[in-house]
Amino acid sequence: MIPTLAPQPRPEGEILHELTRSICPECRAVIDAQVLLRDDQVYMRKRCEIHGWFEGLIYADARAYVEQAKYNKPGQAPKRISTEVLKGCPLDCGICPEHRQHTCLALVEVNSACNLDCPVCFANAGAGFNLTVPEVEGMLDRFVELEEHPEVVQFSGGEPTIHPDLLEMIEAAQQRDISYVMVNTNGVRIANDPAWFERFAALRPLIYLQFDGLTDKTYQVIRGEPLLETKLRALDRLAEADLHVVLVAAIERDVNEHEAGPIVEFGLGHPAVRGVMFQPVTHSGRHPDHDPLRRMTIPDVMRALDAHPDGTFRSSDFVPIPCCSPTCSSVTYAYLGDEGEVIPLPRILEVDQYLDYITNRSVPGIDRDILHALEGLWSAGSVPGEAQSEAFVCAACDLDLPALTDLSRRIFMVQMRDFLDPWTFDVKKAMKCCIGILQDDGRMIPFCTYNTVGYREETRARLAARRRGSREIRVLEPAL
Ligand code: SF4
Ligand code: SF4
Ligand code: SF4
Repeated sequence: MIPTLAPQPRPEGEILHELTRSICPECRAVIDAQVLLRDDQVYMRKRCEIHGWFEGLIYADARAYVEQAKYNKPGQAPKRISTEVLKGCPLDCGICPEHRQHTCLALVEVNSACNLDCPVCFANAGAGFNLTVPEVEGMLDRFVELEEHPEVVQFSGGEPTIHPDLLEMIEAAQQRDISYVMVNTNGVRIANDPAWFERFAALRPLIYLQFDGLTDKTYQVIRGEPLLETKLRALDRLAEADLHVVLVAAIERDVNEHEAGPIVEFGLGHPAVRGVMFQPVTHSGRHPDHDPLRRMTIPDVMRALDAHPDGTFRSSDFVPIPCCSPTCSSVTYAYLGDEGEVIPLPRILEVDQYLDYITNRSVPGIDRDILHALEGLWSAGSVPGEAQSEAFVCAACDLDLPALTDLSRRIFMVQMRDFLDPWTFDVKKAMKCCIGILQDDGRMIPFCTYNTVGYREETRARLAARRRGSREIRVLEPAL
């Protein structure tokens, strides 16, 4: 006889939006997950056989989450793959034949150590490994082999500036067919080591500078020490050397949401800064306890910008990036005029109409050149302040913008990217990820998958155990 059981009550008005696959935040087992719409927010709910139910906030705007499906651009298959489909996503990275997007931006994590000890660190920086120059050269060659003409490589860590061979690695990347070379840094060495900085600046890499706010209180909580003066000194050195900088701000609930607007205004006024990247704090790796139902998401950062009384940008200026899953990232660009005017591109051109992949194929009057230019800007591989931003000229060619000269100084980007954590990991997003981490064995592992599923720990253990200088690149299969 089958017993009669009471149903598990669900909140009134909740809608089951879709079913996907995720992982258990405790044991990382791959499990089914429901994406739920409730109270105008989007949640992921899932159950592990051993560890029970989990629920986390994905996106604090249900209407936008559903409507953004129209920005889902058809994926561009990777030129080559490295692994076979054996266990299913996310256990076959990669890139495996099921992956739906090529890699716009690849990271090389040159070390695991850092000169800071932030309470929040998705890389869980600490002792472990330093890659050798031949290992990095092998990874860069592999990136060129995988993508043919790759767009962006970013050196990261740990903290890449403390690696003794970083300058040689940057030169190795610049000698290859890779359009842009970036360094992702906390800025401490830039601020404190002028002799080293002179040699570093001579190579002219693009800088992603960790910059979480304009108060020491914020740095004390997120980075464990008061760093504002150090950050400002680093920025001034970068400006003196005329290097282009994107400020990267980790935003945490109840800590520095209120700094989002001031960071943008500060960036607009600083001669080195070409853009701001907001990243809600990722609760992977090392992080204090958090409430997954109250985590920051992209709409929360947009609301923080809207709340700034004198803010230049508004949430309506942002359009999702279509090359990855549209809810992963939103971006806007503004033109900076001679008289201090800041003109966000979506206010003068219907960017959303162009990047609507469900309906724009049938809309008369879509200019293919403008579409192509906007696709260059609305890409994870777009680099503000660099030649690619000259796509702006084309996008704005019919518009009455003054002085379309010296564009590298006239384009300003504000981007938001919400990395997946063990509570929000979604294979649907992982399969279309366009950011990868190059591995010493020839694989490229999509970024959020690397940080959540266990690949990071596996790679670190392998690299820490290897004999310094040894290198093995797998024999790799061409794409099917
Ligand atoms: S994330 Fe991509 S590469 Fe990794 S298993 Fe899934 S489809 Fe394959
Ligand atoms: S978050 Fe960045 S700066 Fe902080 S410890 Fe980790 S690697 Fe270092
Ligand atoms: S890195 Fe994460 S957030 Fe970014 S595109 Fe890939 S899956 Fe989405």
